[in-house]
Amino acid sequence: MIGAALGELERAGIMVLERSRVVRSAPLGPSHRRFANSAALVECSLDPSELLTLLKRVEARFGRRMRGQRWRERVIDLDIVLWSGGCWQDADLIVPHLPFRKRGFVLAPAATIAGAWRDPVTGLTLRQLHARLTRQQGITR
Ligand code: AMP
Repeated sequence: MIGAALGELERAGIMVLERSRVVRSAPLGPSHRRFANSAALVECSLDPSELLTLLKRVEARFGRRMRGQRWRERVIDLDIVLWSGGCWQDADLIVPHLPFRKRGFVLAPAATIAGAWRDPVTGLTLRQLHARLTRQQGITR
């Protein structure tokens, strides 16, 4: 599924530079499914807003339904975690992604492919953010 979604992005002109291994995580809400998480480092000429539009199109193609309802079972969720331009904010999008610093299932795979990438808000690298979370919460992955 993750590979197929990345394939869709590549067909739309996005260059996938790095792709992490898949990290399994328990569901965050009342869903009973486990999730498969992965991070990708991509290069494109789109701005974050245009990229989000494309990500939503790919999500829709994979059958994500019930948009706007949180914590329901979903097929695929594509987020923009960091952007080389730093911070972005508009009505639909905030980059860096707001909760990513507290999510081991985001930081663990992201740190393996872009560990030296610096979060513009905290000034910490992905590797440092992951180490901090691991210390704070005992998350090992
Ligand atoms: P969620 O279902 O929690 O992934 O939220 C999806 C919505 O969050 C999207 O429709 C976006 O408008 C909004 N959003 C805000 N910031 C981001 C981000 N950095 N990446 C992806 N979606 C975002």
